[in-house]
Amino acid sequence: MKYILLALVVVVLASAAVELLRALRTYLKFRGKRIVSCPETHQAAAVRIAAGKAAAEATIGAPHIRLSECSRWPEREDCGQECLAQIQEAPKACLVKTIVNQWYAGQSCVFCHKPFHEIHWHDHPPALLAPERKTIEWKEIPAENLQDVFKTHRPVCWSCHIAETFRRVHPELVTDRPAH
Ligand SMILES: [Zn+2]
Repeated sequence: MKYILLALVVVVLASAAVELLRALRTYLKFRGKRIVSCPETHQAAAVRIAAGKAAAEATIGAPHIRLSECSRWPEREDCGQECLAQIQEAPKACLVKTIVNQWYAGQSCVFCHKPFHEIHWHDHPPALLAPERKTIEWKEIPAENLQDVFKTHRPVCWSCHIAETFRRVHPELVTDRPAH
């Protein structure tokens, strides 16, 4: 009897672990902001999938993938979410982070000319130089404008962004010395 109980506990724990793992995998696959081509306008739209909800549903079966955010909401909140097919087809390729990382790859900072290698978004993320010669951070840019920004802005490293911002805000404290 004791062994049967023990075996039962092991089975229950193992299946719970499998379900948790499936939920985690679903969450990791669908979290994050993405860019899709809106099937209605054929323009870029920034969307987010309800990853938490999908993960919870994945524990009991196939999750029902739906959006939790779209740059065209609330006006078009009742659309058929046909863009989901694009995400299902290439979940990683449409992630904003993937698209931005690809843009930086092979480019160098316009100020110090240091090439961009692996980008760490949590630690000294790269910035941009706007056409009006002002450096800005990615958080100031709506994701749906990504493709336009790539055409009009130049890449800037974190250190140069900080230096340029200081120069702009406190011009009286900056002395430019000629290079030796
Ligand atoms: Zn730089």
